[in-house]
Amino acid sequence: MSAANEPRERSGVGAPSERAGGSGGAKPPGQMIDSHQHYWRYDPAEYAWIDGSMGVIRRDFLPTVAACEMRARGVSAAVAVQARQTLDETRWLLQLADEHQTIAAVVGWIDLLSDVDAQLAPLASNTKLAGLRHIVQSEPDGFLLRPSFLDGIARLRQFGLTYDILVYARQMRDAAAFATRFPDQPFVLDHLGKPDVRGGEMARWRQDLEALAALPNVWCKLSGLVTEADWTAWTADQLRPYLDAALNAFGPARVMMGSDWPVCLLAAAYADAVGLVEDAVAEYSPDEREQILGGNAARFYKVLPPHGGTYGAQR
Ligand SMILES: [Zn+2]
Repeated sequence: MSAANEPRERSGVGAPSERAGGSGGAKPPGQMIDSHQHYWRYDPAEYAWIDGSMGVIRRDFLPTVAACEMRARGVSAAVAVQARQTLDETRWLLQLADEHQTIAAVVGWIDLLSDVDAQLAPLASNTKLAGLRHIVQSEPDGFLLRPSFLDGIARLRQFGLTYDILVYARQMRDAAAFATRFPDQPFVLDHLGKPDVRGGEMARWRQDLEALAALPNVWCKLSGLVTEADWTAWTADQLRPYLDAALNAFGPARVMMGSDWPVCLLAAAYADAVGLVEDAVAEYSPDEREQILGGNAARFYKVLPPHGGTYGAQR
């Protein structure tokens, strides 16, 4: 399966063909940043969600392996996103970020339902801790609006931390009600809100996505789509309308390319996951492409420019 080899067809859905400077396909001059990667030392108990159908990711995935994939694809840095819901996970990702220059920032986990300040106190001085995420997709409906969760989120501004919203499409209305309550808190929607690509659902997802995009503090990751589609039969043409819808709703200044490596490997090679987004933005101006493929992630997660040699979040 090679999405990069799919015919490049200009989408009729809001293709930005009238945008100034659209030259199509040229490599952006800026650094590419992958806004969404995970790392793990595979352990069946700690990663119970990696079931028998996911044999290809039942092994270790560490930054050195990611770095090879990134180098081959021209990606300079990545944002490491939590996969386990433990403080140890956050500490481990920060340690990896110290050891590997390719990790520009960390999206960690703390228990947002309990004392946020006490948990963040020993972590907050680490400039690579850029944001937090909770795996809300696995929580009962209504979780995002629980008073104790809202209290936890209300503390993040104080620490200059972002929050990654990971929900299924059916939870996106809750997500909009949630994000509305914190107009000064930067949020990013992971994986376009996980539309049901397999089932071909589009209309309601698009409506809910547009409601989220109407909030100026919400951004969107162009990531994780291949695994919402049939892992062996997806095509770039099938995924393109979802990417176009997100690009049109959020505009080129609030979307960021992400691979969701190594989870993407269930359905696509790293290069194809990146190529899918690159192809979708080929008609944008060079400056817009640069922002979507790296600049926006750097801005959102406050990643320092790489001129100093190392990446790190600035707060
Ligand atoms: Zn992921």
